[in-house]
Amino acid sequence: MGKTLLCGCEDVTPEEVQRAFAAGHRDLESVKRYTGFGTGPCQGKSCLALVARELLRLGATPGEVAPFTSRPPRQPVALGTLAALDPASLPAGADGIPPEAPPARPGEGALPPLPARADVVIIGGGVVGLALAYELARRGTTDVLVLEQAYLNFGASGRNGGGVRAQWSTPTLIDLARRSLARCDGLAVELGINVWFRRGGYLFLAPTREHVARLERNARLHAAHGLRTRILTPAEAVRVAPALEPSCFLAASHNPDDGVVFPWPFLWGYATRAEALGAKVRTFTRVTGFRASGPALTHVETDRGAVACGLVVNAAGAWSKQVAGLAGLATPNRPTRHEILVSEALEPWLDPLVSLLGTGLYFSQSQRGELVGGMGDPAEPEGVNQGSTLRFLARFARAATRLAPRLAGVKVVRQWAGCYDVTPDNNPILGPAGHANFFQVHGLVGHGFMMAPALAEDCADLITGRGRHELFDRFPLSRFQQGGAVREDFIIG
Ligand SMILES: Cc1cc2nc3c(=O)[nH]c(=O)nc-3n(C[C@H](O)[C@H](O)[C@H](O)COP(=O)(O)OP(=O)(O)OC[C@H]3O[C@@H](n4cnc5c(N)ncnc54)[C@H](O)[C@@H]3O)c2cc1C
Repeated sequence: MGKTLLCGCEDVTPEEVQRAFAAGHRDLESVKRYTGFGTGPCQGKSCLALVARELLRLGATPGEVAPFTSRPPRQPVALGTLAALDPASLPAGADGIPPEAPPARPGEGALPPLPARADVVIIGGGVVGLALAYELARRGTTDVLVLEQAYLNFGASGRNGGGVRAQWSTPTLIDLARRSLARCDGLAVELGINVWFRRGGYLFLAPTREHVARLERNARLHAAHGLRTRILTPAEAVRVAPALEPSCFLAASHNPDDGVVFPWPFLWGYATRAEALGAKVRTFTRVTGFRASGPALTHVETDRGAVACGLVVNAAGAWSKQVAGLAGLATPNRPTRHEILVSEALEPWLDPLVSLLGTGLYFSQSQRGELVGGMGDPAEPEGVNQGSTLRFLARFARAATRLAPRLAGVKVVRQWAGCYDVTPDNNPILGPAGHANFFQVHGLVGHGFMMAPALAEDCADLITGRGRHELFDRFPLSRFQQGGAVREDFIIG
């Protein structure tokens, strides 16, 4: 018997949509992410209405079937075609690119009620907030409420490149990332969901002598910390990543134990397991303010009512500065948009995530075969903006096809954007600040996804009184006033 497909590009059946709905993914943005429908070359043109109709049949509300945000380009376009565009002639972020509209909110009746009180209220249902909820619950602190203003994966955690690496330039971040990588090895089993962790390595390319010196310095540090980082000649690097043009760089550093993950399942896995242990996750619930009495916050106010609180955790990523501001706390974070794209699926050809230092260019190949790549833009102004630009496509296409000319024929299927939450020293802000019961965990720049598994363990240990990792002495908010900040410069994008 033939199979009925709702999404022909991604092979999504009615039964898969029914399973997603039964697992609590009711709105179209969430069902898109859970099943993959609408992420193929047609971008939902042929399947959006069919899936919406199926969801309505299953009992979704009209608010839940509001169409998902459409992603450019309208048709797949070859990188070679985009590389012919002049980025300087295209508007940059400051020149009026509209930010992505906030997602439609399902009707109140479709949302589970808010509890009147929680011992721990976590603001932000990204990887940091959800991993922390899970780690707290594992330690017996189960009266935890996570508040997320949109659907899960709305923030940077659902928009990133999935790179996980231990190649850092300070012992603190090397240790944190290495512990996270080790945790990733067992997370699929622990969370009960495939997180698509693949250790294909990271290959950093050094285009100048200064960059080479930096890689060599890092490699010595990595060796002292037991990492298998090696400095390669261009010819050796091309054996690791065959499509590269060796004249574009002088040397490379390669660690085969780094890798990539698929970000979305992490959030569902952490959320499901945290809820199974007693925590509550409430999506489409935006924090709008706080009430305080003396030195403590007493209530978290939301657009669905107030919740009395014990500890409040600010895990709002690029919105953390706004959330801190609601409690009268000033933080130096600068949210900054970063754009990213995926191509059509290709034959397997690239093991490592490749990053060309000094340009912000990086790309890897996903296990679905797509090229996944991004590139920071020095012209990008500060501000939360998840909208996409043609300028990014042109800049990425030029840089990528110069470094790997064979990519010119590869077609871009989809682009989107998220925000880095940048701090002055590129390190996180951790621990209590502003109020005795206001805990900060944000400022994770472009590497928060890979740090979250281990960082959540350390935060949960501190909150439950099990131990205090040196991270909390190194990265309090107060370091910026006290001049104690040590900068991390090995940032991509
Ligand atoms: C394009 C791009 C590529 C990246 N690549 C990588 C990579 O390869 N590897 C890596 O490790 N990291 C990468 N990062 C960085 C990484 O995605 C982030 O550091 C990480 O996801 C931060 O997680 P988070 O939970 O702190 O923030 P988020 O995932 O942004 O979660 C914060 C959540 O808070 C919610 N929120 C905000 N305000 C409120 C409010 N008032 N009320 C309720 N909820 C609220 C938001 O909706 C959001 O969902 C990348 C980022 C981008 C944008």
